[in-house]
Amino acid sequence: MTKLIAHRPFSYLVNTSVYRKLYARRIHKEIAKIEAGGIYVNIETTNACNADCLMCPHSKMKRSPGIMKEEIFRSIVDSAAESGLRIREFVLSGFGEPFADKNILDRIAYVKARGPYYVKIFSNASLLTTEKTEKLLTSGLDEIVISFNGITKEVYESVMKLPFEKSLQNVLALLAARSRKWEGGGQGTKVRGRKTEDRGQAKQKPKIVLSCVRLADNKAEVAKFNAFWKGKADAVLKPIPENWSGSMEQDSPWKYDIKGRLWPCRGMWDTLDFTWDGKTILCCRDYDGRVIIGDIKNEAVKDILARKRAMGTRQLEHGDFSDAKICKSCDTMNKNNINWL
Ligand code: SF4
Repeated sequence: MTKLIAHRPFSYLVNTSVYRKLYARRIHKEIAKIEAGGIYVNIETTNACNADCLMCPHSKMKRSPGIMKEEIFRSIVDSAAESGLRIREFVLSGFGEPFADKNILDRIAYVKARGPYYVKIFSNASLLTTEKTEKLLTSGLDEIVISFNGITKEVYESVMKLPFEKSLQNVLALLAARSRKWEGGGQGTKVRGRKTEDRGQAKQKPKIVLSCVRLADNKAEVAKFNAFWKGKADAVLKPIPENWSGSMEQDSPWKYDIKGRLWPCRGMWDTLDFTWDGKTILCCRDYDGRVIIGDIKNEAVKDILARKRAMGTRQLEHGDFSDAKICKSCDTMNKNNINWL
C-alpha cells in the first residue's frame, strides 16, 4: 500500500484559519533568521548526464545539453563572493553529472581559493578514475553525495542504467584513497569560524555520503543498502522521490501528500540555482527552467536574490503564486507545509 508522507496533524494545524495568521508571523521571523544565516548557491556546471535513472526527469528535459563557460562560472562565484552575503554552501551540481564537465575539479579549487566556502557536489561516481580521485582529494571539496540507487547489480543497473561493478569500485576506491590521505587523523577546514567536522563531518575530507532514492524497484534492498554502506560512508540517505513540480509520476511505495494551503518554500529566501547558461531558475525542481528569475550575464547575485525574495514575500503575504505556477502541483515537503515549524 502506498505510504503517504503527509505530516497530517501538523499540516492540518498550520492550515486552520486561527493558526494561519500565527504561522505567517512565525515564517516572517524565520525569514529574518534565514537572511542573517546566509544562502546556498547551486551552480549546474553541466546538464549532461551519463546515467538514466528511473526517478529522474533528465530524459524529459527540453533544455539543450551544455557545459558552463568559464566566464559565466567565475562571474557567479565572484558576484556571490562580492555580494556581502554570507554563503552557506556552493553546490556545484544541477541536472547533470558534474564529472561530465572535465573542468569540475578546477572549478571546485577556484571556489575554495576564493574564500573559506563549503563546497559540495552530487555525483553518480561512475566517471571517476584514479587520477580524478587523487585530484578530488586535493581540490578542497568538502562533501560529495553519491547517488547509488541499488546494492545488487540487477537492481542498480535497472534503476540507473550504469555499470554496477565500475561504480562500486570507484566509490570503494575513493573511500580507500581518502583514508590513505588522512592517515594519522584529519584536521578539517575552517568554515566561517567553524570546522567542517562540526557539521557532522567525518574527520576526513571530503565528507562522503551515499544516497538511495526509495522506489518500487529497489524497495527490497533499501535495508541491504543501508547495512552495506553504514560504517563505510560518513552518512547514508534514503530520500523519497518527488514529482518534480508536478511533471512526473513516481513508482514508489512512499509519496508526499499535496493537500492543503500552499506556503512558500524556504528556498525563496536562501537558495539560488543557476543553469549552465547562467540563468537563475525557480528552484532545483524546475529542471526545464520554466520559471526564470534572473541571468548572471546581466545582473549581480544580490539583485537576483532580491527579486526572488520579493516573489517569496508576495507568495507569503498575498498567496500570489502567479509567477511560480509550477509550485501548485509540486509535492515536496516544502508544500503543505510544516517546513517552517
Ligand atoms: S513549491 Fe516546489 S516548485 Fe515551488 S519553489 Fe518549492 S520546490 Fe520549487
